Formats: sequence, structure tokens, C-alpha cells
Amino acid sequence: MFTDTHNHTSHFSSDARMTAKELIDACKAMEMNGVTVTEHYEGDYPHDIGVPQIFDIPEYFEAFKSWEEYAGAFPIYKGIELGYQKHLPEFYDEMVAKYPFDSVIMSNHLFDGKDPYFFRDCYEKDMISVYTQYIEEMAEMVEKCNNFDIVGHYDYINRYAPYEKPQIKYSQCPEAFDRFLSAIISKDKCLEINTRSIDKMRKKGLNDCLPDKEILSRYFELGGRNISLGSDSHASDTLCIHFREAAEYLRSFGFTEASYYVARKRFSEPL
Ligand SMILES: [Zn+2]
Ligand SMILES: [Zn+2]
Repeated sequence: MFTDTHNHTSHFSSDARMTAKELIDACKAMEMNGVTVTEHYEGDYPHDIGVPQIFDIPEYFEAFKSWEEYAGAFPIYKGIELGYQKHLPEFYDEMVAKYPFDSVIMSNHLFDGKDPYFFRDCYEKDMISVYTQYIEEMAEMVEKCNNFDIVGHYDYINRYAPYEKPQIKYSQCPEAFDRFLSAIISKDKCLEINTRSIDKMRKKGLNDCLPDKEILSRYFELGGRNISLGSDSHASDTLCIHFREAAEYLRSFGFTEASYYVARKRFSEPL
């Protein structure tokens, strides 16, 4: 089995439904190698949704001690998922440096300043221009931020897209993808394969759910080998969801291992 590198608990992520104990119990039952908790931290989140989108980091590390005790020999890693905005790179770089995180995911949950999870009006524009702009912003995020390990769900923008064929593809914006993938490789970061994105597409009844072939082959061709598997679970029934299928798919492009991070150092396990 694998290490699931992207998960949320109800203690520090307002949209999650599983407790740390439920997470640990489920991981043990599935005989997983390990798990990383990556709570949401959205600095200056633009929407008032009634609950804070940031959390008290010292409190998180304090809680983690009891989770580790509960987990015993089962490895659980201290992570965070940061929400990118243009004015936050320096703030995040400095904030992360103050704490002993194992793993840091950088994600972009906004488009034109709004989260498409809540606001779907961004999709009134045509698909190609929306996706091109989103991938350009992802490239900018990787270029500007330094103190992180994994690039979260590059395909977040297609999760809620109402288009008939919403899958994001290399051919829709090759230049933006080249900029994005090259930045990941030159900064030695990790490209996440987010299996929650696959699951969302599949639940909509779409056939074309796995990450686009051309994105993966282009990443590989440019020299990218660093990928991680993250289920982005908010409840214990989706841990490692579609991991076996994704691993087999990744192997078909030549990828041989999946990354996870401990004390900000990269480790890998065979796909
Ligand atoms: Zn996310
Ligand atoms: Zn997440």
C-alpha cells in the first residue's frame, strides 16, 4: 500500500468530517504505509463562510502529539495545505519556516479572487480561457513560493466546471502547462495526482477522469519524476481512493515511484 499525502480532519479543517482517530483507525485497517494530515490554511480567504479558514498552528502541533500517541507505530506526518494568493508568498515562506512541518502543499483554490467551490460564475467564460488563466496562476504560484514541497491539485478548476467535457488538458494551453511543469521541475517540487479530482469526475458520470495523458507525458519528457498520490480525503471512506488505478496509469508513462515528505525531506515508495 501507499502513503496518502493529502488529508483533512475535522479538528482544523472546517469542511472535513473525520476525526484524527477515525483517520488513523481507517489507515491501520487498510494497512497503509503512512498518512499525512494537511489541514487547510487559507490566508486572507476572501469569503465569509461563517468559519475561519486558518487555524492556530501551535495548537495543531499540540494536538498532533496526542494523535501520534494514538497512532503508535503507524506513521502520521504533520502537514499543511496553503491557499495561494498573489500577496502571500513571503508570508507563507516565513510562516512555514517557524514550525516543524513534515510536508507542505501549495494549492490554489481561487479564480479571479473567488473559490469556484462556492461561486460558479467564473465558468461563464469559455473553458480554454478559464483553464489557461488558472494554469498561468499555478505557474506563478510555483515560481513565487519557495518554502513548500507539493503542488496540490492542478486540476482544481475542472472539479466544479459545468462544461460538457470539463477535463483539463495539455492541448488546451500548452504554453501555460510548459511554464507550470518547468517551474515544478526546476524548483525540485512535487506534482500531486489528486485522486479526489478523479473521484469527482467519475461521480459526475464522466469517462475521461484520469489526469490527461499529455500532461503526464510532457512532465516526464521535461524531466519530471517527482509525483505524489493524495486522496484529499475529508472523510475516512475515501482514503487512498483510486490509488491502485492511478499508480498503474502512472507506471504506463514510466513513473516508478510516488513521493511523500518527512521533516521536509523527500522519500519515495514504488508505484
Ligand atoms: Zn485543496
Ligand atoms: Zn485538500
